[in-house]
Amino acid sequence: MSTDLPGEPDAPLRFRDDVTVELVKHSASDSDVLWAARVSTAGEQSLEELSKDPERSKGLLNYLMRDRHGSPFEHNSMTFFISAPIFVFREFMRHRAGWCLAGDTEVTLDSGSGDPRPLPIGELHRRWHHGPAAGGATEARDRQTLDSQVRCYDEDTLLAGRTPIVDVLESGVKPLLRITTAAGRTLRCSADHALLTPDGWRKAGELAAGDAVLAGDTTGRAAAALPDPIASVAGDGEEMTYDLSVAGPWHNFLAGGIIVHNSYNEESGRYRELQPVFYVPGQDRKLVQEGRPGKYVFVDGTPEQHKGVVAAMEESYTQSYAAYQEMLAAGVAREVARATLPVGLFSSMYATCNARSLMHFLGLRTQHELARVPSFPQREIEMVGEKMEAAWAELMPLTHAAFNANGRVAP
Ligand SMILES: Cc1cc2nc3c(=O)[nH]c(=O)nc-3n(C[C@H](O)[C@H](O)[C@H](O)COP(=O)(O)OP(=O)(O)OC[C@H]3O[C@@H](n4cnc5c(N)ncnc54)[C@H](O)[C@@H]3O)c2cc1C
Repeated sequence: MSTDLPGEPDAPLRFRDDVTVELVKHSASDSDVLWAARVSTAGEQSLEELSKDPERSKGLLNYLMRDRHGSPFEHNSMTFFISAPIFVFREFMRHRAGWCLAGDTEVTLDSGSGDPRPLPIGELHRRWHHGPAAGGATEARDRQTLDSQVRCYDEDTLLAGRTPIVDVLESGVKPLLRITTAAGRTLRCSADHALLTPDGWRKAGELAAGDAVLAGDTTGRAAAALPDPIASVAGDGEEMTYDLSVAGPWHNFLAGGIIVHNSYNEESGRYRELQPVFYVPGQDRKLVQEGRPGKYVFVDGTPEQHKGVVAAMEESYTQSYAAYQEMLAAGVAREVARATLPVGLFSSMYATCNARSLMHFLGLRTQHELARVPSFPQREIEMVGEKMEAAWAELMPLTHAAFNANGRVAP
């Protein structure tokens, strides 16, 4: 359904009652879990698992799931394009499902004027979320950080560019690897973090001495990225980790001088005009909550209630988008004008995860009769979760079956 904005024939408002989820990229199969698990007992022979029919090892998958041996489920990757209302993304971003860098990892900030500046990602997180410190040089420096972009690379030509930071995420306490290169670069990251190599994206945990990563220039020269051989890969304890969400089109940034992938990319309301696509509940969306907090159910609304909800939302969306357009027409910056837009506005993002983090997400964000620990998610994020689950189940049918058979508890 779509309605023209009064006086704005070029900007028709669209009202949607569904969400979009597309699997855009993946490297994920049941055998990825099996070889990762078999290395414990078979060492080098675990590589044979790659050519075997995973159907023969259903029992092992089930055992890993039941006894919550989780890490073999991390050696895979899925990137989803998701278009959904902003209130869904607010819930989605709470999941520290992303890949992770140690707090002392220097990211290369590049404001476009003057030399780029390295800043530890933990410090960037502090400035991003707590804002500029009050007063003097510190405040000016913090403001400069918040206006900066981060150095990224064209994955085809390997030429350097800049991209806006959309968010700085705390990803939880994670075990880390320390990768040291022949040229003296060091990166401390989780084993599942993807690094750009001359052979494409590879997980840190799959790399060994003798492999190479693509490394970038952290100075003002911004030369094209070049291979830097890995000298060593070693375990490096556990600590708080972080990740960046950057605006497209590239899904990477420079960390410790090495090109790394990021896990969330959301469209930026600072750098592009937001399109007038808004959420309204569909006919089958239950509208009424009955019961008390902690013990309630949702039931269908009456046709009148549904009509009233849709009419009220459409009116409010129309007014707020008109106000947004008026401010833009008056020369107000997009980042200021967007404050008038509601959380029912659609946004879009790429989200990259592995099967273990997806299972955790599904355990919390879907309702299912097989769930041993029931959850009560908001319907709209559940709609996203259901579509992600359908795509994942096709890629990893045995893992998906084991997840269901073991009460939908992430290992
Ligand atoms: C139905 C529902 C209602 C909710 N209501 C609210 C609400 O009212 N207010 C609100 O603020 N939030 C709310 N949330 C969000 C919720 O509190 C979590 O932030 C969100 O679900 C992410 O889950 P997580 O932290 O378990 O998992 P993830 O971030 O996805 O991490 C996966 C797992 O990794 C481990 N892990 C990750 N990071 C750390 C860490 N730093 N330290 C230790 N272990 C870690 C944990 O085992 C964790 O379960 C709600 C969530 C649901 C599903």
